[in-house]
Amino acid sequence: MPELPEVQALVDFLAERTAGLAVAKVELASISVLKTFDPPPQALEGSPVDSVTRHGKFLDLDADGTHLVFHLARAGWLRWSERLPATVVRPGKSPIALRVRLSDGSGFDLTEAGTKKSLAAYLVRDPREVPGIARLGPDPLGDGFTLEVFRGLLAGRRTQIKGLLRDQEVIAGVGNAYSDEILHVAKISPFAIAGSLPPEVVERLYAAVRDTLAGAVRAASGRPAAELKDAKRAGMRVHGRAGQACPECGDVVREVSFADTSLQYCATCQTGGKPLADRRMSRLLK
Ligand SMILES: [Zn+2]
Repeated sequence: MPELPEVQALVDFLAERTAGLAVAKVELASISVLKTFDPPPQALEGSPVDSVTRHGKFLDLDADGTHLVFHLARAGWLRWSERLPATVVRPGKSPIALRVRLSDGSGFDLTEAGTKKSLAAYLVRDPREVPGIARLGPDPLGDGFTLEVFRGLLAGRRTQIKGLLRDQEVIAGVGNAYSDEILHVAKISPFAIAGSLPPEVVERLYAAVRDTLAGAVRAASGRPAAELKDAKRAGMRVHGRAGQACPECGDVVREVSFADTSLQYCATCQTGGKPLADRRMSRLLK
C-alpha cells in the first residue's frame, strides 16, 4: 500500500507529466470505484489540469475546479502511459478500474489487484467533500506539525502507539509499513500505550516520524510510478522482513500477525529483548 512518501512521489510525478495538459476523457471500467455521482466524469473532459496535490494518502487532481480525488488503498496502483491504447477500457477481468486520458495521448490507469476491492475515486468540487479527507489529522511533514502538536495528539490516549500512528484522523499519511519503521527507529514497542510514553520518548518518536518520512520522500522523489513499489520495499528496515537480521543489532526481526495484517519489530531494539505474543504462534502451540 502506498503511504505518504510514495503518494508524494506520485503527486510530483503526475504534476510534472500533466503540466500544460487537459483531461481528454475519463473512462470507468469498474462502476464501484467511483463513490460520487455529481459532478459526472464528463465534467472533467476538456478541463486543463491546474494542480496535483496530496491530502494524507489521497491524491487530488484539480482540473479547472473539478477534483478527481483517489485513494489507492491496499492493492491499488497508478500506471502511467506515455501513449494510452485507443481502445476504451471495458469492465471485466482487467485490473484497470479507471482510465484518465490526457490531451496529448498520455494518461494513467488506476488499477487494483486481488478480489478485495477498496480502491476509491471521487469527483468533487471541493476535496473536503470526501469524508476521509474532512476527517484527516495533521500532515506529519507540514510546517505546523511541531513537537508540541505531536505531544497534544498523544496526550491522554489509551491506545497502542502502533495503532495511533496509523490512525488517519490523528496523523495523515502513515500506514502499516512506515509505522513499523518509525517505531523501530525510535526503539519503541508497537504495543506501548501512546499517552503513557515519557516526554523524552515522545521527543524521540517525533524525530523518528519526521526523519523517517522525510528520508523516504527523498528516496522516492523523482522515481517513475512504476519503480515506487520496489523502492519502498527495498528501503525497509524491519517492515516485511520477518526472519531477517535487524540492521541495528543483528537480532532476528519478529512478527505479530493479526486477522488481515501483521507487524514486524526487533525485540532487542524495541521490547527489552522480550518477544511479543503472537496470536498465530500461540494458536499453533495450543
Ligand atoms: Zn534490533
